[in-house]
Amino acid sequence: MMMAYSSGVANGLPHTNGATNGEKTKPDIVIVGGSLGGLFAGTALKHHGYNTTLLERTPENLLHNQGAGIVAGGDTIEFFKRYDRTGKPVAVPSYKRIYLDQEGNVIHEEINRQNMTSWDLCYYLLRANYDRVDSPYLADGGKLPEVRPTDGNVTYRYGCTVTNIKDEGARVRVAFKRKQKDGSEVFDSIIADMVVAADGPSSTIRAMFEPDIKRTYAGYCVIRGTVPEKAATPKALEVFRERFCFFHAPGIQNLTYTIAGEHGNTDPGHRLLNFVWYANFPEASPELETLMTDKDGRRRHITIPPGMIAREAWEMVKKMGHARLPPQMAEMAEKTTAPFVQCITDVIAPKNLYMGDKVVLIGDALAGFRPHTVASTSQAAFDSMILAEWLDGKVSRTEFVRQTMQFARGIQRMGVEIGNRSQFESLPMEEYIKDRNYASIKREDREYPEWTLEGLDEV
Ligand SMILES: Cc1cc2nc3c(=O)[nH]c(=O)nc-3n(C[C@H](O)[C@H](O)[C@H](O)COP(=O)(O)OP(=O)(O)OC[C@H]3O[C@@H](n4cnc5c(N)ncnc54)[C@H](O)[C@@H]3O)c2cc1C
Repeated sequence: MMMAYSSGVANGLPHTNGATNGEKTKPDIVIVGGSLGGLFAGTALKHHGYNTTLLERTPENLLHNQGAGIVAGGDTIEFFKRYDRTGKPVAVPSYKRIYLDQEGNVIHEEINRQNMTSWDLCYYLLRANYDRVDSPYLADGGKLPEVRPTDGNVTYRYGCTVTNIKDEGARVRVAFKRKQKDGSEVFDSIIADMVVAADGPSSTIRAMFEPDIKRTYAGYCVIRGTVPEKAATPKALEVFRERFCFFHAPGIQNLTYTIAGEHGNTDPGHRLLNFVWYANFPEASPELETLMTDKDGRRRHITIPPGMIAREAWEMVKKMGHARLPPQMAEMAEKTTAPFVQCITDVIAPKNLYMGDKVVLIGDALAGFRPHTVASTSQAAFDSMILAEWLDGKVSRTEFVRQTMQFARGIQRMGVEIGNRSQFESLPMEEYIKDRNYASIKREDREYPEWTLEGLDEV
């Protein structure tokens, strides 16, 4: 069983790298996946003195900007409060939630502060904190973090696709393939005390332990994009600027809000309006086939990335927008230059510790939430913070499992319920407002049903 590491566990390992905490030697940890989940874990573990090697399959050093807004939940904000050493603000506030009718009139509003951030700002701040990557995102108030003698050593390796992990008693061997410049592949492996699987909703590591758990399509997609504030009409700015703006209709939900602009610029006039538009596309329907066939004619399984949507598909989407959305939201679809599409899917692992506690699943690898929960980034942040606390002996294993699994189970189920209500039922507006407010309850204030604890003692 993996307990808090206190002494001697990492002795004799290939790289102990001098990361010690007083007299105590910390374990070496391999993190699989270098998106937000892997970087949250890497940053927290580095801060607590653990040596980490992060393996990311993307063949370039930096991941592509996902061009998307993120509603920064409580744990995302808490993570940056605890571990950010750049000093750069991560969020743009939104002060009001408003709801529109199809003509674009405001039919409900409430004061409600929420923090909006963007995938790329979080990513670059985490890379600065983890392996000191400098970027324009640090301009205007940010700096490269100082090096502290108590930090664990970090190694970021890109172009490394993890293919297998093997139990070697007290340690784990992580096998991966590496693409060479000439396109050939080299097979390699590293030994570690622990593996943190942050390899996303289609996790290879989860599939090794839980081959029967599959991602399933929920029957609708989300169409996303951004428009610079400067390109929007005054009518659109009126409802989207520093507002969290919603529209509901049968089979449709659209939310639009302000996020930081290029390189994290939060100055008014330089930010982006980010739209998130859920629309039903039944499985195997001709419309879904059109939407998910990219401009090169390839049928994509789950995501059409920015720049890859086919012209015919985008024309179909814009037409739907003009027919069914309030004019301000249809304007966003009309004006965005790099839309992208994701099929909404469901997936959750029954537990998060495997191989005698030497392997831990975090973030989307543990549970892929529907985006209505606005909690996926927070899950990855929370899992990482409590992982460091468990390894440090500040929380027990039981508490670690209980808190991470309750969160995963409770929020995953809530996402399915509110997503299905929104897309497949026709409800009075008050019901959608109630669901939205329920989804915004902070993790620590939430009451979880009893079933979320079932079977956890055997994990
Ligand atoms: C466009 C977009 C918008 C989003 N909006 C929101 C939002 O509004 N609110 C919110 O809370 N969350 C949002 N999310 C989700 C949020 O970004 C993720 O939940 C968060 O990043 C945690 O995901 P993750 O790191 O666990 O997994 P992922 O982001 O899926 O990352 C997994 C990483 O692992 C790598 N990988 C996969 N397999 C392997 C392998 N075998 N070997 C090595 N590397 C591997 C992948 O290349 C990838 O970089 C959004 C995500 C996207 C993409």
